[in-house]
This record gives sequence, structure tokens and C-alpha cells, in this order.
Amino acid sequence: MSSSGHIVLTSHSRPGSNHFSPIHWGAEDARVRGPIIASVSTPSHRNVIGTHSGSYSVYRAISVAAGHLDPSHVPDLTNTSPVAEIGPHKQWFDAKKIVSFDPWGHLVVDEFQDHLKEGFDIRPTIAITQARLKLMEMKEAIAQGRLEPDGGVLLENGDVNVTKIAIDPVWHIPGLAERFGVDEHAFRRAIFEQMGGMYPELVTRSDLEVFLPPIGGITAYVFGNPDNLSNPKVKLACRVHDECNGSDVFGSDICTCRPYLTHGIEICIEMAQQGGNGLVVYNRKEGRALGEVTKFLVYNARKRQKGGDSAAKYFERTECVAGVQDARFQELMPDIFHWLGVTRIDRFASMSDMKHDSIVSQGIQIKERIDIPDELIPEDAHVEMEAKKAAGYFTSKTPKSEENLDSVVGRKIKE
Ligand SMILES: [Zn+2]
Repeated sequence: MSSSGHIVLTSHSRPGSNHFSPIHWGAEDARVRGPIIASVSTPSHRNVIGTHSGSYSVYRAISVAAGHLDPSHVPDLTNTSPVAEIGPHKQWFDAKKIVSFDPWGHLVVDEFQDHLKEGFDIRPTIAITQARLKLMEMKEAIAQGRLEPDGGVLLENGDVNVTKIAIDPVWHIPGLAERFGVDEHAFRRAIFEQMGGMYPELVTRSDLEVFLPPIGGITAYVFGNPDNLSNPKVKLACRVHDECNGSDVFGSDICTCRPYLTHGIEICIEMAQQGGNGLVVYNRKEGRALGEVTKFLVYNARKRQKGGDSAAKYFERTECVAGVQDARFQELMPDIFHWLGVTRIDRFASMSDMKHDSIVSQGIQIKERIDIPDELIPEDAHVEMEAKKAAGYFTSKTPKSEENLDSVVGRKIKE
């Protein structure tokens, strides 16, 4: 509700919205491109659909409803500026290369000073900070002789120095529709209808081309000097990882997610120690973007099926429950490489062909693919691993034949 008490509908443009600044996606000058204005306190300024903070926008609304947050609060951005310089790179000036977030998202305080002074509520959609990681696996890697501390990237006690980057989703709808090869109108309509009629502007305001969807974003961890990421003379190791809370955080052993993540970090540390860079891109796409509830339902269906959990039936069970084997759509994933100015990945720690092919289709070269060492795969995760290899995922080893796949079985449900 607005302060005057009546509900302001967003579905049609209002007369007198003369502060509307159009967005020219892909423009070379930030001020020509125009700021992303998702302010809900001044509806006449808005030039996008949706609001800030991805999935957390719902919690912001609850805070307002509960009386904890003043809806007119404007963030004080003093001292929040990035700790590393990223861009602008020439990839930013091609409207089709970055379509799923705002390449200028970390630079709003510098680039849109005038707008901010005039009272426009413009917020960063990207933040860049420093961190130190404490991971058990890095201590183990040192103890087992795979990694050696250098006092800079990797410290004697196993701590790792990194730069980390958080990115909220900002979708350029025409670019997204094109990336998926669908008509823009059909694309807008499907999102509107399949989300139960949320965001009517998707279908009523074709003049608004930018949508801030209520979904999770990306976190990127950079090892080594982030200024070198766009330098083609400096080598880059990379892991693109899709969220798996069960394994990544809790160490659940039914999949290889955390071992793959920490192995990727090892490869990144090695490369940074050799004067290169490491990059881990962490996408919030839990359970192949089907969500954790679906994922756990699939686990039960796998373990309870006739003959028990087997590599031969791995993908089939997911499709039975979810309707698709995978909903991650790696089509948007390469955007971050364009944003960082990356044109070549020297070592890519992943067995996914979808990720590989998507990156290569965007004109980014991958020199070497690295699979996970066998000793890092948990016992119960061999079902997933063998199913993926047999389905054509990258491996440096020979995948099992159809008959031999049946022999790869997991633990029973109550074991
Ligand atoms: Zn997992």
C-alpha cells in the first residue's frame, strides 16, 4: 500500500510518471544504459518489473508488514564499494552477452551519482568483498601432500584468501527469450501464468524490458589477483557449481557435490599459486533447480524401487517425479565469464557436458577438463557417478556398459 492508503497497481503505466528513465541494455556508457530503478517507495521512478534482493524480497515485504522495516528506508552505501575492479569489459557492450544480471550492478554509486543526489533509490545488485575460507578438506590436502601452503593464497593453517562476489538476478527479458530460442511474448506469458499470476506487468508492460525475478543468484570466489581475470596471458582454473545444500553444507554422501566443490577449490588454489587465477562460480540452483523437496522425494523413489537404487535407473526416477531430468538451464550460466572478461578457461573442473557446451557456445574456450579423483567419491555416490558417466558426462576413464550399470547399487533406505 502507498502512504496515502490506496493500493497502487503496477499493471499499467500511470499518467504523470515523468521521471521514468528508460534502460538501453548493452549501451557503452552507464549513464546512457540508465540505472535499474526497482524502488517500491516511489512507483513513478520504477523502470523494471519486480524488486531487489531476489528470493529475499519476500522477507523484506514481511519485515514491512510486521512493522520492523520502514518501507521508505533508503540504504546508506558509504564504504560499501567493491574491493576489486571488475570491468567495464567490451563484452558488457553487447546486449546479448550478459542477459541474466546487471553488469554495472557493483558500480551504481560511481556511475549514477547524479540520480542518487536527485533522490532516486538505486541499489547495487552486485557486491565484491574479501574473505578467508576455513575448510577441513584444505587441511587434509596439505596433510596428504596435494597442496603446499605459500603464505599468500594458502596459509600454513590451511586458511585460504579469496575475493568473493555476490550477484542478484536482473533479467533482460528480450535477451533471455532469445537465449532460450523462444518468442518474447510467449516467454513473458509463461512466467506470468506458471507463477500463479505474479507480476502482471510481464504481460501488460512490454515497454519494461527488465525483470528482477524472486530467485537465488550467484556467488563467485576468486583465488589470486582478481585484476588478472580478463588478462588472456594469465591462466585460469574454474569450477562452476550448482548448489546442493545436503552435500555442500551437511556432507550428505548420496552425491559428489561437496567433494567436487572442494576438489575444484584445490585446483583453483594450485593455479593461483602458479601465478594464475582460480574461480569458483556457485549458482543457487538447489537440486538441479527442482528444489530440495523434489530432490528428497527422488531419493526415496530411487531407494525404494524394485531392485534398489541403481545407476541404470538414476535419471529415470528424477524424471518420474519432476517431469524433467534437470531444470538448471545452463544457457544463462556463461554470463559471469563475459562479465569478468574471461575468454579462456585453462582447467575446468567439471564432468557436466551441459556446462561445458554452454560455455563453449558463448565463444569461451575450454582447454582441459578435469574429473574428480576416485578416492574423493563417497561410497553411496557411485550410483550417481556411474549413471552420469554412462549418460555421456565427461570422464577420463571408461564408462560402464549398460549391463554393468545394473551392478552399481546404493545403500538401502534404512541402512
Ligand atoms: Zn548433491
